[in-house]
Amino acid sequence: MPDNRIKMSLQYRLAFYAGGFVFAVGSYLLGVWVFALESANWGDLRLYQSLMKDIGFSLESHWPSLSGWILICEMLAALIGSLFAREVENRHAAEQRANIDGLTEIYNHRYFQERLDVEIERAGRYGRVVSLILFDLDYFKVFNDNWGHQVGDRVLKWFAQICKDSIRNIDILARYGGEEFALIMPETGSGEAQAAAERIRRVTEQASAQVFQKYRSITVSAGIATFTDHAEDKDSLICRADAALYSAKHNGRNQIQIYDEDCARLHHVSKDHIGALLASDDISALEALAAAVDERDKYTVGHSRAVMEISMAIGRCVGLSADELASLKSASLLHDLGKVGTTVQARDDKTRTASGQAHTEEHPNLGSKILRRIQQMNSVLPGVRHHHECFDGSGYPSRLAGANIPLPARIIAIADIYDTLTNDRPGRKALSNSQAMQQIMECSGSQFDPALVEAFVEMMKERGNTAA
Ligand code: GH3
Ligand code: MG
Ligand code: MG
Repeated sequence: MPDNRIKMSLQYRLAFYAGGFVFAVGSYLLGVWVFALESANWGDLRLYQSLMKDIGFSLESHWPSLSGWILICEMLAALIGSLFAREVENRHAAEQRANIDGLTEIYNHRYFQERLDVEIERAGRYGRVVSLILFDLDYFKVFNDNWGHQVGDRVLKWFAQICKDSIRNIDILARYGGEEFALIMPETGSGEAQAAAERIRRVTEQASAQVFQKYRSITVSAGIATFTDHAEDKDSLICRADAALYSAKHNGRNQIQIYDEDCARLHHVSKDHIGALLASDDISALEALAAAVDERDKYTVGHSRAVMEISMAIGRCVGLSADELASLKSASLLHDLGKVGTTVQARDDKTRTASGQAHTEEHPNLGSKILRRIQQMNSVLPGVRHHHECFDGSGYPSRLAGANIPLPARIIAIADIYDTLTNDRPGRKALSNSQAMQQIMECSGSQFDPALVEAFVEMMKERGNTAA
């Protein structure tokens, strides 16, 4: 666990200090001894005084003698050693911080991905097993809506601690994202992993009744998949654990599910066959799905397709490769997929109430949640999830800024707003092309990536459109 590593680096530093100190004192004594041997008159006080002079600075010459030089060099060596130790420790701590989730103080998603790669590679090489457990707190959105995000944050920290208390040193616990946690269990088959997950589930349910009794009982569901029983590589291991988690949710929550054929079937028929459609690799299926999303609202008919066309034009303008363009095409077509989960009521409320707005703001998350279950859609996910981020970090859902926002998402953001502005919306008439371009240019650097706004304006000029 991270705490142990920091402790180890402190021990390392203390050892350096102690070593340097012992080294310096040792060489000091050695110098005294050599000098005393040379003078062969150890008990003489005058000798001691001259020794002091000799070891330190000679008052007469103001210049250190040989043994004084040795002492100075040793002390310098100890000092350099200690500075080096501090540098090592600082780097170690910075590395640690980059791998740690700020809220729960367990590993973050990035580190989880790295470690899962390593563990799978190791297990593959030595013919061992690795289990992956994905935990997801049940109905956590409702919990947040009822009790507020601050209490929600306390619950997340508390749950992380429960997991930490229940795992072995070799297990790797990470925050997978939001209210989802991942536990990598090396050298562990599904049965043992299930027992560990069950322990965590039980403690969560029982302890929450005491700790959070004022609010309501908190429960957790989990899905388990094991390398190589259920999957042969990292991506499919995650996908299978996620399918098992989905099945645990579907079967009533507050339970653990190991991946099996039923999970696979359920996975594919979920969300009105959206998964099967998306997994079919057929762009016309994606177009049909996008059209179905748009049909929910008379104002958005044709929106997804239009956003796709503008995104592709910007993508070509900035020189994306064929693969990047293909994934941009799917991401832009499906950018509003999550709206299948937003209610019409919330949509109509969004300009009027905070809760309507919050509900609408969930759609990038929801879209990526649906897509995450389909392995073929991995490259499409970032564009869908982050198309409402702002270049200055004020967007949602993750408040990413600048180049941290995935490129497809930055492109889709411009295309999305352009198509929205140039069409009638409730309470607002469509703007002209040039007015819409003007608005986008005004938001360059705040909402949009300035380089992409330039590319967009360039591309529009080529098509004969100029700003107002
Ligand atoms: P399910 O049982 O299907 O998992 O329902 P759910 O409501 O838990 O799932 P959903 O994915 O719809 O909602 C997840 C919620 O987790 C949405 C968001 O409010 C909350 N959440 C995500 N990250 C954080 C966080 O860092 N702090 C807090 N307080 N809440 C978070
Ligand atoms: Mg979740
Ligand atoms: Mg949840």
